[in-house]
Parts: sequence; structure tokens; C-alpha cells
Amino acid sequence: LMKTLPLGVEPVVAPRHTFDENRSLIGLSHAEVAEKLKEIGVPEKQCRMRAQQIWHWIYFRGAKSFDEMRNISKDMRAKLNQHFDVGRPEIIEALISTDGTRKWLMKFPDGQEVETVFIPEEDRGTLCVSSQVGCTLTCTFCHTGTQRLVRNLTATEIVMQLLVARDYLNEWPSPSEGRLVSTIVLMGMGEPLYNFENVKKAMHIVMDDNGINLSRRRITLSTSGVVPEIYRCGEEMGVNLAISLHAVNDETRTKIMPINNKYPIDELMTACKNYAGIKNSRKITFEYILLKDVNDSDEDALNLVKLIKDYKIPAKVNLIPFNPWPGSNYERPSNSRVAKFSDLIFSRGISAPVRTTRGEDILAACGQLKSESEKARKKIKTTH
Ligand code: SAH
Ligand code: SF4
Repeated sequence: LMKTLPLGVEPVVAPRHTFDENRSLIGLSHAEVAEKLKEIGVPEKQCRMRAQQIWHWIYFRGAKSFDEMRNISKDMRAKLNQHFDVGRPEIIEALISTDGTRKWLMKFPDGQEVETVFIPEEDRGTLCVSSQVGCTLTCTFCHTGTQRLVRNLTATEIVMQLLVARDYLNEWPSPSEGRLVSTIVLMGMGEPLYNFENVKKAMHIVMDDNGINLSRRRITLSTSGVVPEIYRCGEEMGVNLAISLHAVNDETRTKIMPINNKYPIDELMTACKNYAGIKNSRKITFEYILLKDVNDSDEDALNLVKLIKDYKIPAKVNLIPFNPWPGSNYERPSNSRVAKFSDLIFSRGISAPVRTTRGEDILAACGQLKSESEKARKKIKTTH
């Protein structure tokens, strides 16, 4: 059935209008859930146990309503229903690419929308999660950066993206092995380290072993280089770190990434060295977008190797050929240029695979999120 639908549009399975941010128990810590229960008059000595039960239903079983929570008495369920909510946001769009990539556009009660992308691979499935609506940074190659900042996502909204993906992939109860969603990357819209507290809270919920139980080694946070928060990230979250480096000298980097004015390359590399040191020499991923005639020369590749070696950082490089968007001022280098750039790094002992573009037909590739799908949606509406 799905294959016959236009544009890989999937029927929307999540119920509409059931999500209320102020009533939602999703995205709250154990202690906060217990506190909420106390507020509605649950006897204090029951609160912890009840919170535990609810937590298990939400994050292990994937319950979307209190009615599903069968080991909770009918009266208690009615009371919970009256005050709280465990439903999902409105799903505006659910798309499947010809390569299996999926994308969901969800709308929160204040009308703001975010996109979440699922990328199935042979040995894992990666969920690309957004941390903000829009972004305050204005990297010149990034579509998200051209949008007005709208706001930070709450912990509820960040966790919700994973729950929605799991709903669509039918991945409840939470399996311990062979998971479809086996990895999370904070590489969607927004700068996660500018929304530190909510991202941290959401990741701790995702890692909690009473629920989703995803190991910190399976979570990667990507940042444009907010140096002070990189230190905090190491101490308080301990997830894998990816750095959007994109250039090897301050002049070029400042031109394409204005945040480099505030936190130049030396400070950034020092923070990375420290990060790798705390977590038993875990490798840092350096993301490097390839922009034709801007940062794609042989010299750039060699300087990238030199930079990593000078700071003695255990690292791998992820090369991302530029994904164009309407109005962008850059071009993607030729395939042979990209291959040469990659070879130069590999041959000096640092892994530097080229990230294959996934989900291009549903506009799910890096740097293409949100505005594009709004346009596509308008087009679908007007042709009907
Ligand atoms: N704000 C964070 C998280 C977003 S991750 C960060 O910048 O790291 C998204 C990744 O896609 C970043 O590495 C970003 O630099 C890259 N990107 C942005 N626009 C792109 C484009 N047009 N083509 C390819 N990659 C792009
Ligand atoms: Fe923001 Fe990252 Fe895009 Fe830069 S690349 S504008 S930091 S989302």
C-alpha cells in the first residue's frame, strides 16, 4: 500500500491533538513525575513506585494513553487522564525515501514545527534529532541558518521525536538488541549546545535504563563549536562529540561560520583535546563540508591532517559534500575532487569517509531541513 502513495507519503498513524505540553509527562525526570503525582494528591509513599510504573509504560512499552497502563487501577488512570497527558504531537508529514530514509514533520501546540530523520543502514539505524526550531548561528552554507530563530525545543519535544519514530517503526516494547533506532545524532535543526539544559535532560531520559536505555556511546552530539559548553558536555553528558569544523584556518572559518569569531580554531581544538582525554580517548568526529573552491584544495586536506596531529586528538573525519538549497551561494565539488580530498587524509592515517547523501528525494539531507518541506507541502495542496 505504502508504495502506491505519492512521494512516499505514509499514512499518519499517530492520533491528532492529544499532546499538551503543560500536561505532558514526557520529558520529565523520575523525580519530576513523582512530584507531579504528589501535586494531584497521590499519597506520598506511593509516588515513587507510581512514577516508576508510568515511566516504564511510556519509555519501555511506548504507551500513548493512560488507558493502556493496565497495572494501574481504573480510578487512578481516570485521575491521571484528568491532569496529565502522554500523547504525541500532530504529525504533519511522514515521508519515505526510495533509499529507505524516513522523515517526520511534527507540529507542536504553539504551531512550531520540527523535522526528524531516520536513516537505516546495514548495521544500524540512526535517528537525526533536532534541538531548536531554526538556529541563531548563521553559517553561510546552511539552510537552517537562514531561518529566523524561533525557539529552543523543550526536553519533552526532543524526547518526543524519538517516541514518534519508534511509533512509526513499530518498535515497542523497547528491544534490548537488534534495534531499528540504534543510534541518535543531534544533527537536525539547531545548535544543541545553545539549548544545553533541555538537550541534557532529554538525553538523560533516553539513556535511563528503566526505559529506552540507549548507551551514551550510541549518542552523538554535533556542535558548530560552542567552546564553554563543550567542556560541560564532557562532564555532564559524556556522549560522543562531533565538531562542525569545515575549515582549517581562522580566516576561512570565520567567513563561513561566524561563531569562529567568538571561539577560534585554537580554542576549539583545545576543548576537543580535553574532551577526548576525559572519556578514555574516545574519538572526536570532525565534520568537514566540502564547498567548491572554498575549502576543498589539496592544501586544505593536508592542513586538516596537520591540525589534528598538532593537537594530538584521536579523531576521524566525516566529509560532507555540500547539499545545495534554493538561493545558496556554493557548489558541490566534483566527485573526483571529493575522492582526492578523502584519499589525502586516509593515506596519512586518519579515517575520512565521504558521507553519502541520504533521503534527497524527500529533502532530508544535511542542511535541507524544514523550509523545503513547507514548500513541498504547499505544492501538494495546490495541485489537488
Ligand atoms: N548546529 C549543529 C548541529 C547541526 S548538524 C552543527 O552545526 O554542528 C548538521 C550538519 O550538517 C553540520 O555539520 C552542518 O555544518 C552540516 N550542514 C549544514 N548545511 C549543510 C549543507 N548545505 N550541506 C551539507 N552539510 C550541511
Ligand atoms: Fe546552525 Fe549548525 Fe546550521 Fe550553523 S550549521 S546555522 S550552527 S544548524
